[in-house]
Amino acid sequence: MVIICYFNKMVGKLFGTTGIRGTVNDFLTPEFCSKIACVFGNYVREKFNAKNILVGMDPRTSSDMIKHAVISGLLSAGCDVYDSGITPVPAIQCAVKEKIYKFDAGVMITGSHIPIERNGLKFFIPDGNEVYGKIEDEIEDMYFSGKSERASWNEIGKIYNADAGKIYKEMLLKEGIKVDKENALKIVVDTGHGAQSNIMPFVLREFGHKIVTLNAQMDGFFPGRPSEPDKKNLENLIKVVNALNADIGMAFDGDGDRSIFIDDKGEYIMGDMIGAIIADSMMKEGDFVVTGISTSAIIDYVAEKHNGTIIRTKVGAADVVGAIMKNNAVFGFEENGGSIFPNINLGREGGLTAVKILKILHDKKKKMSEIIAEYPKFYQIKEKIQCKDELKNKLTSAIKEKIKEKYTGTKIDETDGIKILFGDGWILFRPSWTEPIYRIFAEGKSESKAMELIEFGRKIALLSLENLK
Ligand code: MG
Repeated sequence: MVIICYFNKMVGKLFGTTGIRGTVNDFLTPEFCSKIACVFGNYVREKFNAKNILVGMDPRTSSDMIKHAVISGLLSAGCDVYDSGITPVPAIQCAVKEKIYKFDAGVMITGSHIPIERNGLKFFIPDGNEVYGKIEDEIEDMYFSGKSERASWNEIGKIYNADAGKIYKEMLLKEGIKVDKENALKIVVDTGHGAQSNIMPFVLREFGHKIVTLNAQMDGFFPGRPSEPDKKNLENLIKVVNALNADIGMAFDGDGDRSIFIDDKGEYIMGDMIGAIIADSMMKEGDFVVTGISTSAIIDYVAEKHNGTIIRTKVGAADVVGAIMKNNAVFGFEENGGSIFPNINLGREGGLTAVKILKILHDKKKKMSEIIAEYPKFYQIKEKIQCKDELKNKLTSAIKEKIKEKYTGTKIDETDGIKILFGDGWILFRPSWTEPIYRIFAEGKSESKAMELIEFGRKIALLSLENLK
């Protein structure tokens, strides 16, 4: 027997660029989380005959509340729930994908790097991939049509404990290299109070390295640093790497799917460079690698070296993963430090990226700064201007018109916003759909070229915006 229940009749969009996000106890209430989890439970039971749902969370102050609401919703849909507690996102994806375990699908409660008063939900289907495109639409349709099925009293699910972190640790240990005392590296690990705090320091120590941890107590108030591992938030990590004369520093975002590195000279390494170094170690002739439109031309240099192909997508992990699957690519990455190894995991992998970088250091027997020095240098400048949502598409069209009339014959890529490719550099104009800003990126082979391009880009964008008002 099933009980049909009708949710609030609403219309609109729930999924953003990555999962469902919102302010806690405003949009993201226990009531909403329970309902959407029930819809997801119905969806996976119907589409995939999936019943065993693995649930993980990040250490945000609201994650416990949301997790219990999500679990209630899933149980009410007749799903059994495997509660893994605080767990990195890639651990959930990895455990769902690995079919030797009983998990059919997954839900992760995570705000990743966004402000502390917000949080989010990510849903995973049986291949470990995050729900995307058509699946998001179908789940939204089920939610907004107000119709979902609740299990009868004798078919309500059960809760079990699970440890996806253990499965994840085993995978990471298998992928890395144990070193003897002589080859042990001094590594400073800044887990940013996030979900990697109880995974990565232990994995790296087990490889035989000397580990110093920073911000490794999980804490939803993020007292040591905000969860976004950008340069300004990693000042302490850089100081400690320098003070201890460490071989490498690494930092993770709140839910552990992205990692950023500091070299042995205390220099912050751009995510583009890490992606290029890993791609260089993996690519064979004819291979495909996928990355976003805003990634540095350094990856084109790597592809040329291996006679391979780079596919550029819209910015966002879902598009990168989609293109990886479509083209059977060996690797994909984003310039924000998210790398995807499709043979292991169909999602961004902060932990595995760190393990791969350590393996490259070990194989090459070189310092991180020496490896970086082997690559040509590109200079990138990122800027943003204030722009209201309703003006963003108009601004993109206005910039395109201006470029076309001024620079006939210039190569324009419209994959995401407008990218203008000059011989010795590029400019990307791209609206943000999460903030009231419009982004302008420029890259050149010299610092002065990058400066010249960003000034040119800013001028065109501001002028075009002024004309729209
Ligand atoms: Mg994240």
